[in-house]
Amino acid sequence: MLEVKDLVCGYGHLVAVHGVSFSVAKGEALAILGANGAGKTSTLMALAGHVEVKGGSITFADEDVTRASPMQRCGRGIAITPEGRRLFSDMTVRENLIVGGYSRAGARTKANMEHVLELFPRLKERLHNRAGGLSGGEQQMVSIGRAMMAEPKLLLIDEVSLGLMPKNVDICYEALDKLRSTGLTLILVEQSLSRVLSIADRVCVLDSGTLAWSGSASEARGNPEILDAYMGGAH
Ligand code: ATP
Repeated sequence: MLEVKDLVCGYGHLVAVHGVSFSVAKGEALAILGANGAGKTSTLMALAGHVEVKGGSITFADEDVTRASPMQRCGRGIAITPEGRRLFSDMTVRENLIVGGYSRAGARTKANMEHVLELFPRLKERLHNRAGGLSGGEQQMVSIGRAMMAEPKLLLIDEVSLGLMPKNVDICYEALDKLRSTGLTLILVEQSLSRVLSIADRVCVLDSGTLAWSGSASEARGNPEILDAYMGGAH
């Protein structure tokens, strides 16, 4: 479904990712791991079209999307739950969800919202609340829900567990597990290894913007020293 070849991306003169290659099959869950500053978020944001690609290529569903805008990628089925959630804090939960479905036909908004509320029943009670007033966990649910309103084929998720109470991490991971069982393809950036390795099929470890290791999640679980070497004690 996704093929990333020799990806180079960064910010102005700063190169954050120096030629990373990986692929993801339909229905697979890939974890991208690494220490702070390794280039995980930059890679994810480049896939979504929010960070400048300086070299290499990104092919999604047999189409070259390397130069496509974020909106075009979203239309083709790539959605992101960004680091820090980035909700429209003065808008209600319902309005945030509607914005997420902007690239899809209005007629499907209601059904898509019902799907999100089935996934996160807690949001039903919060639908008319200001997003900025919600707890961190609830905000993360809105962020995942907003991405799901775009009917993605590939969902990119950055640090879903960051700063959340364990109960809310459970709720978010249960939802991601459910989505995965429906065939959704996932790429997860995480620092919480135990959680992400429970859902991932494969793992890529980045180190200083390069691919340091890749393998199956079971290989990663069985060889903690591989991850120890690159995670900088983050896990
Ligand atoms: P973290 O876990 O801390 O989020 P990361 O692995 O996601 O780390 P990135 O955020 O992709 O790493 O950062 C990779 C490099 O790019 C770092 O050197 C970082 O300082 C730099 N960088 C990230 N965002 C920006 C930005 N907006 N402008 C300039 N440099 C940036």
